[in-house]
Amino acid sequence: MPRYEYRCRTCGDAFELDRPMAESSAPAACPEGHADTVRLLSAVAVTGSAAAPAAPRAGGGGGCCGGGCCG
Ligand SMILES: [Zn+2]
Repeated sequence: MPRYEYRCRTCGDAFELDRPMAESSAPAACPEGHADTVRLLSAVAVTGSAAAPAAPRAGGGGGCCGGGCCG
């Protein structure tokens, strides 16, 4: 059964539900009981960790002494 991720717009809580595809768009109340929730699309049928750190490194400083301006 696919797992869907939802976010509550009332308290901001994110939660997951295992439910049939036919009910994927059905209203889902958050654990706090709020009905104003939206379905997120990221967590459908993903196995394992898909989180790949892709933080770009900042370049190494200024190039003053490399360009001959210091000499
Ligand atoms: Zn809530």
